[in-house]
Amino acid sequence: MSFLPTTPRLLLGPGPSPVLPRVLEAMTAPQRSHLDPDMLALLDDIRRRLHGLFNVSAEGIALAVPGTGSSGLEAAVANVVQEGDAVLCVVTGYFGDRLAQVCQRYGANVTRLAGEWGRAIDPEAVRTALQHASFKAVTIVHAETSTGVLQPVQAVAALAREHGPRIIVDAVTSLGAHPVDVDGWGLDVVYSCSQKGLGAPSGFAPIAFNAASRAAARSRSFYLDLPLLEGYWIKRGYHHTISTPLVYALYEALCVIDEETMEARSARHARVHGEFVAELAEMGLSLLPPEGERLWTLNTVRIPERVTDEAKVRIALRDTHGIEIGAGLGPLAGKIWRVGLMGAGATSENVATLLSALKQEIG
Ligand SMILES: *Cc1c(COP(=O)(O)O)cnc(C)c1O
Repeated sequence: MSFLPTTPRLLLGPGPSPVLPRVLEAMTAPQRSHLDPDMLALLDDIRRRLHGLFNVSAEGIALAVPGTGSSGLEAAVANVVQEGDAVLCVVTGYFGDRLAQVCQRYGANVTRLAGEWGRAIDPEAVRTALQHASFKAVTIVHAETSTGVLQPVQAVAALAREHGPRIIVDAVTSLGAHPVDVDGWGLDVVYSCSQKGLGAPSGFAPIAFNAASRAAARSRSFYLDLPLLEGYWIKRGYHHTISTPLVYALYEALCVIDEETMEARSARHARVHGEFVAELAEMGLSLLPPEGERLWTLNTVRIPERVTDEAKVRIALRDTHGIEIGAGLGPLAGKIWRVGLMGAGATSENVATLLSALKQEIG
């Protein structure tokens, strides 16, 4: 007997998001090894598309590190933060906390600027922190997937530019959906993942360094060291054996994005999110963050009082309806559901399918 699944599952949780058939099919293209000329041409094209997606100049660099979003997180920190560096970490949720933890592991002297889980940070609090001490870097999560909040990255980046530190941005749940603009917003290092807004399976972390942070990059990590990664992607020397099917999938997903255009894709995410919120309101349900601070990609739905066993609802959605949604993390466990409408999953049809199933389960 085989353990491979045979039934579809509609992935509307915090990630992975649904993968289009053409992206899955791309993975079955004939195999190539990591230094084959066909593979190197493909990597050049992926790099070109990522430069466009992040908007980073040719003096900077965009590529994809092996591993998931957390690998991108670690690559960003590893190439910027050295032992003893002072780092200001904006922590408004689970993933902001993860960034702070990784900075600590790399020997940074971390100052946490904590904000309420479910709200955007007030840039004035960042200004005050930057005025009172000198930092090598600031870290912030653009789309905090644990709370469903879009953080004011542009405003925080402007403050970082004014006061000097580099700014590291987690765009794991924003890239490919919400606008992200490395050079336009003055960001230094921005990382994402393949399986949320981009619509590929997990396994790659696209990452961009602007010109200054590319030039300054050095790391005690061997696997995630930017100059060594460039040694493979640009100078074509062996560093690691990149995964052929995952490269194919990432390439195809990036082609889908370029065909749709980022402008239309962002508009689609905004529209589908709006439809979801409006229909939720008709059911008497609401989101955790206030209007104006909400992600399009990840909706945190307050669990209504009439639901006494929220896990039972999620299990029924999965087992009866074939739909996956996410549970709350940390202090929000039991208080919210997390509904992802991202990448290929951001469609009106998926909103209707989910809400009809949810109505059957909670009335
Ligand atoms: C999902 C996520 C991560 C971690 O990504 P993995 O692919 O699970 O390693 C990091 N940051 C944010 C904001 C995320 O949503």
